[in-house]
Amino acid sequence: MSEAYTGGCACGAIRYEITAEPIEMNDCQCRQCQRKSGTGHGSYLTFPRPAVKAEGEAKHWDVVGGGTIKSRAFCPTCGSPVYLTFPGIPEIFIVHAGSLDDPSRYKPQKVLWTAAGHAWDRLDPSAQKFDKMPPR
Ligand SMILES: [Zn+2]
Ligand SMILES: [Zn+2]
Repeated sequence: MSEAYTGGCACGAIRYEITAEPIEMNDCQCRQCQRKSGTGHGSYLTFPRPAVKAEGEAKHWDVVGGGTIKSRAFCPTCGSPVYLTFPGIPEIFIVHAGSLDDPSRYKPQKVLWTAAGHAWDRLDPSAQKFDKMPPR
């Protein structure tokens, strides 16, 4: 693989290092991601959990979306959303694209929940679009 994916929150209290390539990279325009990001969509990289080393004390809040509990981790000092995990799918670990030390490594392959998207939130024309969740 290429060099590790590293990143963390805005104040540096939470850091992660991931020694694997992402399984998937996607934008999501659902209402939860709009509220959580404060803008039109969230941008996420999904990694295999065993490749992740995370440090720092994150706070978590849980939300149900698409029938799955999502545990969202954020920094209690600076408030940045950093990563999320799914208790029902413990083998994956998802980071926010903006938390990467080099966010240019994010290349969205799919856009989820375009049905909830807004005209002002422009999308990568080459990414595959889904009205809601893609079929698993
Ligand atoms: Zn922080
Ligand atoms: Zn979403």
